[in-house]
Amino acid sequence: MIFYDKKRAEEILENGFSSFMSFEELFILAKYFRDEEGENDREIKDSLNDFCARYQSGFNEVLSRKKIASAIRYSKKHKLRINIEININKKELDSIKMLKSHNLQKILFVMLSIAKYLKANYIPKNKDKEDNNKYYVYSYNFIKILKMAKVNVSKHKRKLLLYELEQSGFITTFPNGYFEVNIACDDSDTIITLNSLDDIIDHYVITCDACGKILDNVSKMHCMCTECYKKKRLEDVNKNVKKHTEKVKMLNNSMC
Ligand SMILES: [Zn+2]
Repeated sequence: MIFYDKKRAEEILENGFSSFMSFEELFILAKYFRDEEGENDREIKDSLNDFCARYQSGFNEVLSRKKIASAIRYSKKHKLRINIEININKKELDSIKMLKSHNLQKILFVMLSIAKYLKANYIPKNKDKEDNNKYYVYSYNFIKILKMAKVNVSKHKRKLLLYELEQSGFITTFPNGYFEVNIACDDSDTIITLNSLDDIIDHYVITCDACGKILDNVSKMHCMCTECYKKKRLEDVNKNVKKHTEKVKMLNNSMC
């Protein structure tokens, strides 16, 4: 499923269907008439019939009755997706940074963004249901998510990445293809704001574990900037030297 937006609806209204009575496009129009024009079911049906009569050669109202009715029904369940703000907060980013691998961080960031976007655009059937507070990713399979995260790996590695994410407890996968993002939460401490789901991953920056500086080149071995890494190496060396001197001292003492 793609993201339906207002712009797309306006394009269809201007240019007609891309294929004969496209259901997807009928759905987009139904949503548009409902959400933008404030029409009810009856009015949407009239608008769709008018549109088809004008733009679709060979349109037959009787033959297309079922198709139009299901587009209207379907349009009740989903809001017209327009570009909205997706706010990623500090708590969520802190959770993401707990993952050691940068690839995993990027994947989780993408999943979180999609889940927050979908939640903001979905009309819950049952308003009191506990599920409404949860964050799900659906209509996006793992391959698509990897693409959005710009993580390019072999099929085998892909399975490992998903396994590691599940093991972290940060996501839960369901047999129906849904992912639940367990680290998502509502919090006002917003760090990153996304205005669309295009190029999500460009908004995710990897920072130095020690000083917080943004890293351009990320090493596979550590998550630090060059200066901090040098400093840490030096400290490690000094620690080892100290340990060694103490050992020698102890040995000398015991020999006396
Ligand atoms: Zn640093």
